[in-house]
Amino acid sequence: MSISSFISLLRPKLSLGAEIFCDPEDIGFQKCLERWSNVDVKVPTAIFCPSTYLDVGIIIEVASEHEIPFVAVSGGHSPWSTISSPGFILDLRMLNKITVDNENEIVKVAGAVLTNELAATLSEAGRCTTVANGNTVGVIPYCLGGGISILTAVAGYACDQITEATVALADGRIVRANENLEPDLFWAIKGSGCHFGIVLELSLKTFPLSILGSDDGSHWAGTFIYTLDRAEEVCKVLEPIMANEEYNTAGSIVLAAPPPAFQPMLVVAPRFMGDPERALSLFQPLSDLGPSMMSSSNPLFFEYQHAIDYACAKGDFKHFNLVGISDFKTANFLQVVEVYKELLSTCADAGPSSYLIQWHTSVSKPVVSESAYSHQDIFIWLNTFSWYHQAENRDLVMDFQNRAIAAIRKDQEEANYVDYASTNRGAPVERRYGGADRILKLRQLKQKWDPKGVFTREFL
Ligand SMILES: Cc1cc2nc3c(=O)[nH]c(=O)nc-3n(C[C@H](O)[C@H](O)[C@H](O)COP(=O)(O)OP(=O)(O)OC[C@H]3O[C@@H](n4cnc5c(N)ncnc54)[C@H](O)[C@@H]3O)c2cc1C
Repeated sequence: MSISSFISLLRPKLSLGAEIFCDPEDIGFQKCLERWSNVDVKVPTAIFCPSTYLDVGIIIEVASEHEIPFVAVSGGHSPWSTISSPGFILDLRMLNKITVDNENEIVKVAGAVLTNELAATLSEAGRCTTVANGNTVGVIPYCLGGGISILTAVAGYACDQITEATVALADGRIVRANENLEPDLFWAIKGSGCHFGIVLELSLKTFPLSILGSDDGSHWAGTFIYTLDRAEEVCKVLEPIMANEEYNTAGSIVLAAPPPAFQPMLVVAPRFMGDPERALSLFQPLSDLGPSMMSSSNPLFFEYQHAIDYACAKGDFKHFNLVGISDFKTANFLQVVEVYKELLSTCADAGPSSYLIQWHTSVSKPVVSESAYSHQDIFIWLNTFSWYHQAENRDLVMDFQNRAIAAIRKDQEEANYVDYASTNRGAPVERRYGGADRILKLRQLKQKWDPKGVFTREFL
């Protein structure tokens, strides 16, 4: 069936509120196509914006029957929510809804709700949950892929907050999945959800704002800036802090070349969730090193992500990747520093790029649920954020990214490599989903729930 016949067949079946954009010149079409990165952006034949869950089920059923490829899009931060003709995009933004249920300590998030929208709504209700560090990241895909956050220290990974999912399946049926209903689908949703269906709605556990260390949900956040030649001393100070399980801390060690000087420097941004006086003593060694600049603030729950709003800008050429490391080695990080310096001196176009270590350490270990996600034991991640303006620099920039990853993994057994499935689908499956039993179960469940690969070919 041609895509135009497909659209004509579907139009009368959908709700009055549903929209279909077919003209790339249409402003609605173009708005839907705006993405976090222009790397490999493709133009679909159509963009469907369903306005009810039933619409989604009907679209999937007909697309599946006629083998018309499609991808869902929420926040548009991944490289996988773009598709070329004759495929179409399923844009979920008209389904957006946030319902806070304080009595049951959950929040229901539907459609393509973004991180900042959820954080603001929860804050107003005096609650919080694990949310991404980037404001414009789509909440549902973030949770489905694991969900690392500053709050991981106190609340756990985002996938472990999921108590129920409403899912549109490959045959168009819409089901609820939780511990009792479709428990195997529920297990797969938590960590690999986008390979099993379109998740229309998630129920997430919420927590009082006080888990962040104060009644109003504010926490201590510091910024210490050093020249790159201080990297070794800084890391030596940070090593024991990152491993210290007496406090709830999180933070990042960032290699960046920010304006106005555009010179590479080291920015340490620790967070402390607890009595701010204790934060001052814990991070005193960072002050004692005599940074070029230092400051501190007490951001509220809905404000803490604002610090990286610049990185959420749409367009241009960007890649975002995370690899997990079991323990932080200063010597390896110093090699990453060298790679970063060489990146900037070889490719000035990649100046906005930054490589960073992010960590979270906690006193009490948050609850981990049985799920497809396997990296709850990782508390240190290398984030390579590559950003350039000229498409032809892609291979060069990716080569530096790979070198940075190789440097941080030096002397690590290859069998223990960890890749974050939400940012890298190309890595061997064993690195994304740990354990042969888990992978076997995922393959069996894929056969059960999406044997034709309507959503993705992963696990087939
Ligand atoms: C600037 C930035 C900051 C980030 N910060 C963090 C962070 O702090 N922690 C972290 O863990 N990750 C972080 N990430 C990674 C991010 O969580 C993943 O890339 C996530 O998948 C993005 O979701 P999205 O809705 O924005 O992307 P999209 O590209 O819209 O969706 C991602 C994938 O999910 C599919 N999909 C979309 N909606 C649905 C749905 N409802 N049901 C099923 N499948 C769906 C898409 O087809 C695509 O394959 C960040 C990424 C960027 C670029």
